[in-house]
Amino acid sequence: MTLMFRSAYAASVQAEHAQTSASNASSTANAALSKMEMMQADLERLMMITEAMWLIIKENNLVSDDELVAKIREVDLRDGRLDGRVAKQNNPECPGCKRTVIGKHPVCLYCGAVVDRDPFAR
Ligand SMILES: [Zn+2]
Repeated sequence: MTLMFRSAYAASVQAEHAQTSASNASSTANAALSKMEMMQADLERLMMITEAMWLIIKENNLVSDDELVAKIREVDLRDGRLDGRVAKQNNPECPGCKRTVIGKHPVCLYCGAVVDRDPFAR
């Protein structure tokens, strides 16, 4: 009888742990979904701003659609592949200590020198 009780107790503890794990996974999934929706809204807003800026440039006869398309292709082909993606650039060298600066830090982690980066670097 005691053995049966222990077994039932162990099963209920396992079930509780499983429920807690499922609840945590659900919370994590909801947080990821929320973050993705915020990023999607940011992307949509950036697309709208880009289009508005393009229309201003175009309406002022500064650049034609064909020139824009050609420039997009030129940027795409920087890595030799027409794949709709901008190639990643190598990490820059620190102007102070000449070490490779890893990540997106604005200053060198070794010597503290300010590292100027390409504003469009990925
Ligand atoms: Zn440095």
